[in-house]
Amino acid sequence: MRPAAHLILTVDYELFGDGSGDTDCCVVNPSEKILEISGEFSAPVTFFVEALEFLHLGRVPANRARMDRVSAQLISAVKNGHDAQLHLHPQWHDADVTNSLEPKLDLARWRVGDLDEIEVNRIFDEGSAWLRDLLRPIDENYCCNVFRAGGWCIQPSATVVGAMLRQGIDMDTTVAPGYRNTTKGEWSDFRHAPNAPFWHADADVCTASMNGILEVPIVTGGISRWRHLYALLQSRRAGHGGLAEGCHGSYQGPHGGADSIAGKIGKLLRLGHVMLDFSTMPVDVLIDVTEQWLAKHYGVAAPIPIVAIGHSKNFTPRSASALHAYLKWAAAEDIRFSTFGKWREAINE
Ligand SMILES: [Zn+2]
Repeated sequence: MRPAAHLILTVDYELFGDGSGDTDCCVVNPSEKILEISGEFSAPVTFFVEALEFLHLGRVPANRARMDRVSAQLISAVKNGHDAQLHLHPQWHDADVTNSLEPKLDLARWRVGDLDEIEVNRIFDEGSAWLRDLLRPIDENYCCNVFRAGGWCIQPSATVVGAMLRQGIDMDTTVAPGYRNTTKGEWSDFRHAPNAPFWHADADVCTASMNGILEVPIVTGGISRWRHLYALLQSRRAGHGGLAEGCHGSYQGPHGGADSIAGKIGKLLRLGHVMLDFSTMPVDVLIDVTEQWLAKHYGVAAPIPIVAIGHSKNFTPRSASALHAYLKWAAAEDIRFSTFGKWREAINE
């Protein structure tokens, strides 16, 4: 028999890494669409909120109305049983947002794994306080206890894990087993992640330990390179150049990453290995990758977390139909729609 499984739909809730994009078109509107689809299936969504950017943008009076729509969406989502957790892109720390449409970020601070302990503690304090200040007044039990690193750049992770434990954040969902990014200034390497659906980590997120945080990885799987390439091309053609309606921005990394030749070759080398990404993958790939994950962890007694990932900014009409069809499939397969909190309650039972 197939193990019991909990599907946790996560959405990285943010603008682009270089600060470009508009909060209405790249964050709020596409997230509303995601909530509408998940609502049809009573499936909770977990937003990974890049709190630093909202904290900074919110300090500029001209942004008040836009920031109110961000806050209102998160408050209403949590009131309705969804979750909002912490996502951090350190380049937003101390950003100059005088001109809020062209914020000046420190792109050299792209990787949270590269920061020293003082800086890491500071951004965790600021980010988690922003979420708690927003959500505690409407839900006194709200807990900021799950983290995902911006750009998957958590390694080397000992300092980050220390800061998480200090803040009471005891789950991480950054690791995508098998995934590797060799791009300069954006690297991550999860090729040696444990072959398990979740594990404890006390320093290195890719090494299982007796205690520490719980690492709940993003589901990954293998498909043919051609199928991957085809899916990426189709996703680029959907919506507005692969982005949500009206959303414009740049995927440029700290060194021009996505647009450089090295960045492009790096991406080609990664072809064939995919995340369970409902923003960019068609439904047949989403189902295939989920089946692979369940087969790989066949025999695990505890309920298996199936962490899917999407991004508001590239959630196109094509992503909407893929998500709808995937949730329909998951419901028919008796996969439970869940959050990190509910999943943890289930494994502790
Ligand atoms: Zn992000």
